[in-house]
Amino acid sequence: MTKPLLKVENLKKYFPIKKGVLGRVAGQVKAVDDISFYVNEGETLGIVGESGCGKSTTGRMLLRLLEPTEGTVEFDGKDITKLSAEEMRKTRRDIQMVFQDPYASLNPRHTIEKILGEPLLVHGIKSAKERNAKIREFLEVVGLSDFHAKRYPHQFSGGQRQRIGIARALMTNPKLIIADEPVSALDVSIQAQVLNLMQDLQTEFNLTYIFIAHDLGVVRHISDRVGVMYLGKIVEVSESEDLYANPLHPYTQALLSAVPVPDPDYIKQEVFLEGDIPNPADPPTGCTFHTRCPFKMDICTRAIPKLIEVEKGHSVACHLYPDGTDNDIKTDGGVIQ
Ligand code: SF4
Repeated sequence: MTKPLLKVENLKKYFPIKKGVLGRVAGQVKAVDDISFYVNEGETLGIVGESGCGKSTTGRMLLRLLEPTEGTVEFDGKDITKLSAEEMRKTRRDIQMVFQDPYASLNPRHTIEKILGEPLLVHGIKSAKERNAKIREFLEVVGLSDFHAKRYPHQFSGGQRQRIGIARALMTNPKLIIADEPVSALDVSIQAQVLNLMQDLQTEFNLTYIFIAHDLGVVRHISDRVGVMYLGKIVEVSESEDLYANPLHPYTQALLSAVPVPDPDYIKQEVFLEGDIPNPADPPTGCTFHTRCPFKMDICTRAIPKLIEVEKGHSVACHLYPDGTDNDIKTDGGVIQ
């Protein structure tokens, strides 16, 4: 039976808004506001949403590159939010990150050999011979060659640099890789190659992925399940196929309306977003999506919809679906404002 490798509960990240010369706290930005999800071993969970929805902040909290304000992150049975700095350093061997901009994340003054050798050194592989063998092995694994080891990041194309970013993430034999927009800086033709490579590596090394993207089209083929975020909250989560065939939340429907469909005979229901994403420092009351939602009802401005499972494995936070198991708006999850 598959078991969750990662279980996140009630995770929050609030950033204080400081004002005046004394730095008085005048409010807070709820970048991530009480989200819960899990990722099973060997699975890929896509996390999708527009910029500023909290998806990258979530990814960084899972590695404690940002400290959560509240909540738990259980990885392999341990709550990593409680680990000491030393314990966390050891845990980072098992959780690695691939970044959006491989050029910015690779030191331009270091050779690829040095860049790939660093995580091995940090995690105690002192023998240069052992490090070199592993560097060569992983260059090959990501489709590069031995002779690339002595080169510098600027000597590679964008796609090759992202392959190096992936190789670096693999050096410590991690269990979980958090990929934060790993292909959005690449040309469309190269995107497919990097996505295919990531899929092959997942099978070869039994990896679990969290794949963060702003575009539902990109995560479609790589994700087993997808969570959609809007203004710091998960508004829908489902098996990938089900989400694309039957999106329930108006925001997901709008995101999918923007994804081109290759079949000219397929007529999709189109939902268009009104207005811009609201200021996260002053989010709308009730359902934070109500300022842009074409289906807004009276209740939407007053009550926060709770994420409820409305079909097996398919949860949504929207008042259009009142038949869920627990949609009592007077409970903590759906506060009347
Ligand atoms: Fe739209 Fe209301 Fe559903 Fe929010 S709760 S998505 S405003 S219908």
